[in-house]
Amino acid sequence: MNNLQLVKNNYKIEKVKKSTGVGLILMKHCSDRSTVLCNNKIIMDSIETNVVNREIELHQQLKHLDCIGFDMDMTITKFDIDQVHRGVIVDTVTGYMLKLDSQKHVLKAFLGDLQISKEKINDIYHADVIPENRPLAQFSGSNNGRFFVLNSFFELPLTPLWIGHINHLVAESGVPDGTGYDHGELMRFLKEAVVSFNHSFGDFYNSRYFREIREDPGKFVHRATDACIAWLKDLKSRGCRVCLITNSKSEYTHLLMTYAYGPDFQSIFDIIIADAKKPEFFRKPAKFYDLGGNYFPKELTEEMLVDAVEFNTPTVYHNGSVQTLIEAVRRHSNKENISFCYVGDHLIGDVSAPKQHCKWMTIAIVEEIEDEEEIVVLQKKTAGFESKGIGKNYEWGSFFCFNDHNAGISSETFWSYVIRHNADIALSSVETLAKYFNDDKFDKQSLKPCSIVYN
Ligand SMILES: [Mg+2]
Repeated sequence: MNNLQLVKNNYKIEKVKKSTGVGLILMKHCSDRSTVLCNNKIIMDSIETNVVNREIELHQQLKHLDCIGFDMDMTITKFDIDQVHRGVIVDTVTGYMLKLDSQKHVLKAFLGDLQISKEKINDIYHADVIPENRPLAQFSGSNNGRFFVLNSFFELPLTPLWIGHINHLVAESGVPDGTGYDHGELMRFLKEAVVSFNHSFGDFYNSRYFREIREDPGKFVHRATDACIAWLKDLKSRGCRVCLITNSKSEYTHLLMTYAYGPDFQSIFDIIIADAKKPEFFRKPAKFYDLGGNYFPKELTEEMLVDAVEFNTPTVYHNGSVQTLIEAVRRHSNKENISFCYVGDHLIGDVSAPKQHCKWMTIAIVEEIEDEEEIVVLQKKTAGFESKGIGKNYEWGSFFCFNDHNAGISSETFWSYVIRHNADIALSSVETLAKYFNDDKFDKQSLKPCSIVYN
């Protein structure tokens, strides 16, 4: 099945697989609500025109960028998408795992293996007559005091641990409906998990995580293709500043980049920025440390702090902020108006932050676009759907839309909403972007290279 269609009240999602990968174009301002009959190759003129125009506009923007920044870790890390459902939110007060819709209403909630009833969900999350007082009112997609998002390769392994521990506590309480478990014990577990996370993903020299990656990077990391490396070099030769801006520490950056892009990875980029602390990187002023080319510093000292950054030096920078980077691009290009783009997979740190704080063009890397399960969910219109699970009773549904077949309702998910409002383009990988960049020919019949159109 190549062409898929889901029509939901006043929006629809079209998905088209293509041989060169799958892309996603987000139509934000299209007013046409009429049905697109993609399977019959009948496409309403206005939508077609909008898609084509947007396509052309995006390619023009991409090809005339002054600066493009890339995230590193998940764009090159192997991620087994069948194991867990990305974007699930842990409520540390109730212990529930939540899936939200675009309005931050709870679509589904689980306590361990127990599914929470709609009545209870409404009671806890939606009942307060003052919307600002509802528990999720201040939630914006980032972790806060109460809610913890399972979003990245680092956080997702907590999912089965969280479920298993809650099941254990519920069984131990002897109250099968989950109302009698020891919440204090759950919080102690969470604190232990945080300590373990800090050690595992923070201690480059002593943790098992880093030791195993050092011993065999190929077990965890994709090698960049020659085509992708050639594309980055081409961008650079066009005069576009190609930046690596990652939250990873310099040691880990060196390890992954050496494996994925080769020992000469530094020459592919104009500048390497490690430990960038996104989303704050796009939001708050902070000084850069110049590590002087040493990816393995023993300590950071005040002497390393700099007021400006330079391109194409053998150094690696640490921390810093976008404003200093923008000043460097301006200084070197002698232009005041600079066009920027950021490419990354973290929907808050890499997509929402550069869009909201800097008004940059953004490209979201969303692996779920190529997930066969997503296609299955989009195909099914009436029958109950079977979804991938994170346990025998976990059916979170599609990453992009949620179909409640009993109620006959489809909803856009919270993360789909974040993508639609903050990403100019969404693709399944940087490799696809490298192909997409030179794919100027828009095919009106297949809608290639776009695959999902939000109207
Ligand atoms: Mg990432």
